[in-house]
Amino acid sequence: MPLFAGFDLGGTQLKYGLLDERLHPVFKAKAPSPPSRGELMALFRVLWEELKRRERRTIRAAGFGLPGIFNHREQRLVQAPNYPSLDGSQMRPAIARFVEAPFWIDNEANFAAYGEYRCGAGKGRHHLILITLGTGIGSGIIIDGEILHGARGYAAEMGHITVRPNGARCRCGSRGCLETEASAGAIIKTYRRIARSSVSLTTEEIAARARKGDTAARRSFERAGYYLGIGLSIALNLLNPEKILLGGGVMDGADLILDSAVTEARRRAFRASFTASTIEKAALGNDAGFIGAAAWARDTLRRKSPGRIPYP
Ligand SMILES: [Zn+2]
Repeated sequence: MPLFAGFDLGGTQLKYGLLDERLHPVFKAKAPSPPSRGELMALFRVLWEELKRRERRTIRAAGFGLPGIFNHREQRLVQAPNYPSLDGSQMRPAIARFVEAPFWIDNEANFAAYGEYRCGAGKGRHHLILITLGTGIGSGIIIDGEILHGARGYAAEMGHITVRPNGARCRCGSRGCLETEASAGAIIKTYRRIARSSVSLTTEEIAARARKGDTAARRSFERAGYYLGIGLSIALNLLNPEKILLGGGVMDGADLILDSAVTEARRRAFRASFTASTIEKAALGNDAGFIGAAAWARDTLRRKSPGRIPYP
């Protein structure tokens, strides 16, 4: 049975693995993300060879999920704020030097959404949104079983829709993005402000304090939930998804953030859109990206429909 490889490059870690024809994971591993482009390409090449040797089966196709805004027409990462050495970088020719199988490149959050759609909590739901609440906020949108790319591939950046017009300055250049108000960083900042604390805590530690009755900690999650709910209501009215899946480290505090998020979404979205959708936790965690990359490669190859293949 042939295999399909998936790579998911993050700012600190590269996750990769193999799926079989039925989309079952056969192997997975991770490596630290090298900072320079040259080292990264060298690592991709080594891992590709390792994957080929490992199962002694043909790898039929591969997917590479990369961090940043990826232009499908030019096959270039036009903005990669979390991976500066790849900013503006042309990706296809470099990868094609060592990958002899057909391969597809996409934004890693798009692939993560596809992973949840094919193998995770969104199985069988053809209209689906995945929002990953971590240090930043990533998202991918599945419409009619396809990744929503938009004209050039820049679609589905839910993390940078405005939920608070005069909110904090965002790394994207705007203000009051979902990311500046509902990410892990936002929760940590809020807690430090309202608890008047200068100690640096993780969201996990803040969640533990909230569960022990620390009101500032509880309010930090609720505030993030409120802005997340505004974002959810926009997504519900705009896209009418069957499911919105929430993942990432912040969801370790799902019990603390979900109530306020769902309440706010219910208050703002059309009742019909709200009731047609469920909002729940994603299932695949950090594996969603490489699973989605491999699944996309397998499905796209299978369809053999060049019009739907997002590269020139
Ligand atoms: Zn932004």
